[in-house]
Amino acid sequence: MTMHPHARLPDSLNDCLALDHNDPLRALSEQFILPEGIIYLDGNSLGALPQATAARVNDAVTRQWGQGLIRSWNEAGWFELSQRVGDRIARLIGAGEGEVLAVDGTSINLYKVLCAALDLASARGAQSLTVLSEGGNFPTDLYIAEGVCRERGASLRSVESSGLNAALAAGVDVVMLTHVNFRTGAMHDMAALTRCAQAAGALVIWDLAHSAGAVPVDLHGANADFAVGCGYKYLNGGPGAPGFVWVHPRHADRALQPLSGWWGHAAPFAFTPGYRPAPGILRYQCGSQPILSLIALDEGLNSVLAAESLGGITALRAKSLALTELFIRRVEPLLTAHGFGLATPREHTARGSQVSLTRSEGAYEIIQALIARGVIGDFRAGDGAAHPDILRFGFTPLYVGFADVWRAADHLQAVMASGEWRAPQFALRHAVT
Ligand SMILES: *Cc1c(COP(=O)(O)O)cnc(C)c1O
Repeated sequence: MTMHPHARLPDSLNDCLALDHNDPLRALSEQFILPEGIIYLDGNSLGALPQATAARVNDAVTRQWGQGLIRSWNEAGWFELSQRVGDRIARLIGAGEGEVLAVDGTSINLYKVLCAALDLASARGAQSLTVLSEGGNFPTDLYIAEGVCRERGASLRSVESSGLNAALAAGVDVVMLTHVNFRTGAMHDMAALTRCAQAAGALVIWDLAHSAGAVPVDLHGANADFAVGCGYKYLNGGPGAPGFVWVHPRHADRALQPLSGWWGHAAPFAFTPGYRPAPGILRYQCGSQPILSLIALDEGLNSVLAAESLGGITALRAKSLALTELFIRRVEPLLTAHGFGLATPREHTARGSQVSLTRSEGAYEIIQALIARGVIGDFRAGDGAAHPDILRFGFTPLYVGFADVWRAADHLQAVMASGEWRAPQFALRHAVT
């Protein structure tokens, strides 16, 4: 086996600078516009802006819309854009062509696939249906599941991740999990859990919000049933970018999704009464899509797929692990000295592309003090004593380098040593954390 260039972790800032200089993925970072003096560790929440996006969206507005007018639905390929962008996302998640749509948002796509999965479970003869998820899942996933269960008279069970296997044994119909946990960065073994859930008779929905573009995902390899994910995180699609939805071809023609809008009709421009679902994944469309946002997402995907000639997601993953490993190693002395905990698993196979620190007080203020120093991470409220507040640092290997990691850890050390996080301005809460 050959040594990966990132296998050895750097011991100094100079080492980091040299590693960045020789990084085979370095050219990828030149695709992005990042403000001078900013270390951006929040690409897991909102990916950075690719250089090419502004011109691409400008062209879509002025030429395609302004000059092409309604002709652009055909001539600029607007109508099939969800499919074309979906096909490109498919390459990052182990899905096939014609199986993925870039459409609507993650919450809405979850609604569609949960309903479809419950219909399939009913068709198998299940009586009172149960959806299983994790208590620590992203709240919108649980909120949507609550709503779907209320509507359908199904019940929602959420357990700690350590309790999943026991809960499966008790009998469930649909399992809805997020592959990489948004708070802790912990990553599930998708193939093993899917196998286990299916052996227990359940259908499995994976949320790939923190996975797509960040870690290798193989939906077919894992034999998953459904998946959804986000366009504005590691796919760099821009604020509110469309999400995506995948349905295994064995199910795609069998179940309906309930948002039976005209875009999911077999013949949308026949304008006939009576809904007839389009074949396959196309029925997961509902209505007109935000074309400008889809075009920005397509450009975001260019920035990720540009890695394909440099080793692709495997190379990105190797660098991401080296970055998170270096950060963990550098903040290690702060854990005991300043009362932080490490929420992210140390085992490589069990973590995504972020590092989360816990602290019983001051997590919000410390993040604000770091932002004032130009190090942008974010804060996520915990949910009680068992889950304290979190300081979250995302490492997007496309544009974060080793020197960034080194300096970010130095800033955290300085914020703690000086106590500057206690300054009153850092306690002011904003609407978006
Ligand atoms: C970011 C994220 C979402 C966001 O849902 P939207 O509908 O795009 O707002 C949903 N689920 C998970 C797991 C996420 O990480």
